[in-house]
Amino acid sequence: MRSERNEQSFHLIKPREHCFCLETHMHTSQSSACGRGTPEEMVLAYKQAGYDGIIVTDHFMNGNSCIDRSLPWEEQVDRYCLAYEKAKQCGDEIGFSVFFGFEFNYLTTEFITLGVGKDWLKAHPEIMTIPIEDYLTLIRDHGGMNIHAHPFREARYITEHRFYPDLVDAVEVINLGNHDPIYNSKALHYAQEHALPMTSGSDCHAPDHHMGAGLAMDQRPSGIKDIMDTIRSGQGYTLLGEELVCNRMHEGDEE
Ligand SMILES: [Zn+2]
Ligand SMILES: [Zn+2]
Repeated sequence: MRSERNEQSFHLIKPREHCFCLETHMHTSQSSACGRGTPEEMVLAYKQAGYDGIIVTDHFMNGNSCIDRSLPWEEQVDRYCLAYEKAKQCGDEIGFSVFFGFEFNYLTTEFITLGVGKDWLKAHPEIMTIPIEDYLTLIRDHGGMNIHAHPFREARYITEHRFYPDLVDAVEVINLGNHDPIYNSKALHYAQEHALPMTSGSDCHAPDHHMGAGLAMDQRPSGIKDIMDTIRSGQGYTLLGEELVCNRMHEGDEE
């Protein structure tokens, strides 16, 4: 039925010539139960839209993942990482950068985690059960970082808002999946109040879904560590998508 899908029509307008436009928050149907585009379809859609790269951030196994949780842990991780691996292979073939991340879910409070990979995840099954403060600290201790995703979103599936300003490395102040612009405004104030670096992400779930957020980086990143260093510094990039934050309160909830 792929041919019946609407053609991707969104096109990114780069804020500066030669900047590197990076999506920081997106999902695929390979690992996210709510995803509606294969890794390959998503890579092609982002390339066509004018992006230079994406971080694949599917819902982790404690969130809205489609990975079978009855499998042994290592196999769950292998299957989870397939989305990134397929996207990366497709990206390599067409000259498009693909990086690895995941959206970690603690009782509906969500974090984009960057900087740890497949082998690390296989060696740390305890992340599914340890207290969230311990998780956030563990990721930092191993060189990674956590971005608090849509911290003020209100939706039927979100049961409570929790805040860890001393344990997160950045705040997602623009998320196009938020149904009310106030959730983004509150996130902006929260980041300012705690002097935390800011990120922007589309939270896109399909090739024809909302795109347009992300980071416009001054330089092409050499890898995920470079991206993390840039975000931590709070410099060398601007946020994309502010003009696209609109009132979508009447649309259905999505995770
Ligand atoms: Zn998401
Ligand atoms: Zn989702």
